[in-house]
Amino acid sequence: MHPFTYSRATDPAAVPGELAEHAHTKILGGGTNLLDLMKMGVERPQRLVDVTRLPLAKIEEIPAGGVRIGALARNSDVAESPLITKNYPVLSQALLAGASPQLRNAATTAGNLLQRTRCYYFYDPAFPACNKRIPGSGCGALEGQNRIHAILGASEACIATHPSDMCVAMAALDAVVQVRGPKGERSIPFKEFHRLPGEHPEHDTTLATDELIYAVDLPDAAWAKNSYYLKVRDRASYAFALVSVAAALAVDGGKIRTARVALGGVAHKPWRSEAAEEKLVGASADEATFKAAAEAALKHAKGYKYNAFKIELAKRSIVRALTQVSGGLQAA
Ligand code: SF4
Repeated sequence: MHPFTYSRATDPAAVPGELAEHAHTKILGGGTNLLDLMKMGVERPQRLVDVTRLPLAKIEEIPAGGVRIGALARNSDVAESPLITKNYPVLSQALLAGASPQLRNAATTAGNLLQRTRCYYFYDPAFPACNKRIPGSGCGALEGQNRIHAILGASEACIATHPSDMCVAMAALDAVVQVRGPKGERSIPFKEFHRLPGEHPEHDTTLATDELIYAVDLPDAAWAKNSYYLKVRDRASYAFALVSVAAALAVDGGKIRTARVALGGVAHKPWRSEAAEEKLVGASADEATFKAAAEAALKHAKGYKYNAFKIELAKRSIVRALTQVSGGLQAA
């Protein structure tokens, strides 16, 4: 492993300054992804700042409405919190669909946001072509093993997918990421937090290198209570999504008043489908509407040699998730 220095942060306010002062510094939280990447030689930070003792693990109601999840709240604690299970079941379900109990006990909310892709070529430093690992080196997955790769929003530079389940639910929930940098705090709407690859797949997010995530806020939203997470994967547990869907609906007088649809396993970022939502709002909550929403969501999808099956899988998953959340799984 590449040598690095280690220090333990004691004051959240001091961390951005430390990040600004020292290049090649990484924040250590649960370490469930970063330490693997360091052992494999994919990540080679010169400094690690351990933030695990900072007081940023609360899950609490926001006085003006909604819930604030501290950056260091463990995935298992978020999944089991009554504030989450009651008000945002899609988030609890997404977290419980991810990883294993041991990993969920260690992984943090901020770390989950910053997970890196599981593209095989990214994880193999002996492989020469990976623009995300070595900018300008090419993309081995384009013509290679691309079964787990993106069908939406990809570029010629990278077709990787974002691996998180939690983030798909947060995208559907209109979460807001709260960060602190040397110049102060800012709020990043969830859909602006993760990036599409474009010409620079080495950047996964819009977080600056000197910013610290301190919380994620969930809005006060009645529709979020009627929400559901569907994950389709190769085996029943401890596997990343081939396709996942976070869905929420509010129905009034037989017509859909509010709709949220986000997809996982299909793009470089959690994929919020506003095209699907437009088909849903104002329409009847029935199978024909759900199929129209699914077609709209995948209208611009593009498959590669081994992953074209995901297009139909994603459509069927959207219909099934919306059927479930509308209360009629038997009809799916
Ligand atoms: Fe690298 Fe992205 Fe291509 Fe995978 S898909 S090899 S992460 S550039």
